[in-house]
Amino acid sequence: MKLVFERSVSGRSNDFIPALDVEKVELPESFSRKQDLRLPEISQVDMSRHYTELADNSFGVNNGFYPLGSCTMKYNPKINDEMANLPNFGQIHPLQPIDTVQGSLEVLHTAETLLGEITGMDAMTFQPAAGAQGELTGIMLIKAYHEDRGDFKRNKIIVPDSAHGTNPATASMVDYETINIPSKDNGRVDLEKLKEVVGDDTAGLMLTNPSTVGLFEHDIIEITEIIHNAGGLCYYDGANLNAIMGTVRPGDMGFDVVHLNIHKTFSTPHGGGGPGSGPIGCKEILMPYLPNNHVIKVGDRFEFETAEKTIGSVKTFYGHFAVVVRALTYILFLGKEGIPQASRTAVLNANYMRHELKDYYDMAYEGPCMHEFVMTLDKLKKETGITALDVSKALLDNGMHPPTMYFPDVVKEALMLEPTETESKETMDKVIKVFKEIYETAHENPQAIKDAPVNTIIKRVDETQAARNPILTYQF
Ligand SMILES: *Cc1c(COP(=O)(O)O)cnc(C)c1O
Repeated sequence: MKLVFERSVSGRSNDFIPALDVEKVELPESFSRKQDLRLPEISQVDMSRHYTELADNSFGVNNGFYPLGSCTMKYNPKINDEMANLPNFGQIHPLQPIDTVQGSLEVLHTAETLLGEITGMDAMTFQPAAGAQGELTGIMLIKAYHEDRGDFKRNKIIVPDSAHGTNPATASMVDYETINIPSKDNGRVDLEKLKEVVGDDTAGLMLTNPSTVGLFEHDIIEITEIIHNAGGLCYYDGANLNAIMGTVRPGDMGFDVVHLNIHKTFSTPHGGGGPGSGPIGCKEILMPYLPNNHVIKVGDRFEFETAEKTIGSVKTFYGHFAVVVRALTYILFLGKEGIPQASRTAVLNANYMRHELKDYYDMAYEGPCMHEFVMTLDKLKKETGITALDVSKALLDNGMHPPTMYFPDVVKEALMLEPTETESKETMDKVIKVFKEIYETAHENPQAIKDAPVNTIIKRVDETQAARNPILTYQF
């Protein structure tokens, strides 16, 4: 398709920008631009067609099934956007006097109270822009806690081998060394191995529960106790909260600090749609170090509080406020009954698909799963030459987004599926049928799978080329 610059015709314009109605100010010479601004010159209808074409070329939950494991691509109810677009939320400025935006501060305060209840945490900050930045903030709190106590020898963060890549990346950004602990054959943390590596140099543990392979850590209380007994703190990666929200709480499992991926669990757009929001919640012991702009209620009024030994700001102002409005809408809409019902349905849906597919595709782990499950296509690859990537390409031909591939990397030829609670049985049945057909074609005519996708605008691409030599800017 043509880029918007290629649709541009010199002199053609669009008159929807209102005329200047304030006094014109001459800028100092040093601020004025040296080159003409290159904006596309395009009529309204051509612009509208341009964006429609872009939308047609992309795929989201509004197009079809999107089982991207660990990412919780659930449907985002439209009422969330309606609330975020209310003028009193959408058209305020972060530097406005707080007496004029009390309602917005109340949104942050209410979201903190409700998310605190869901996670079992005492306080929360909404500054982090997404999960990965939440991790960074959380581990900075852990570091501030140890150092504040004069404990400088703790330089290690323990992370299971199935962890999301952002966990070890976070640890090293905060100058910690990552210690990997292997999982047992059943996918769970190996307690003996954990006891071997824990010590007085342990700053903390980073874990998600259910784990990145969709399994609940039954020994979670013992795990967090082992860390606490060694003087470390426990960090909960909240990306999998969709499996347990309203049922069990990270705070009760012994975690001291958690991040939430609001754009995953609490139904705000993501996957190119962003921005996200990765608030963190913490227990009382970490509250003195919280980032700036924590909302508190004093009498009838909402104010910002600066924590006593704050780590400072990790993002400007209050983070991505409009995303929090969407999440709060979702939580209030579902209510106390709807929240646990959503996670139970998510778990039921995953188990239904797992059960229907297990006679065709090998499951990486035994027994029921939580909200997602991992298949291993190693045997299929040996029998037919068809890989997890090939199956994913074939799925594209059937109007669905592929699952997460090759993650976690402890599983060979991994495909991780997370249908989420918002998919109907009819949709899942259609997808199950597609998976079975692909399995059969892989055995009967593997070349057809190797050639996929054939129904998409872009056919099979050279993945290496795309990753190594991406062209990301437009050259005039
Ligand atoms: C998505 C995810 C993250 C990172 O979160 P972002 O919001 O994408 O920055 C961290 N851990 C796990 C397990 C995830 O699935």
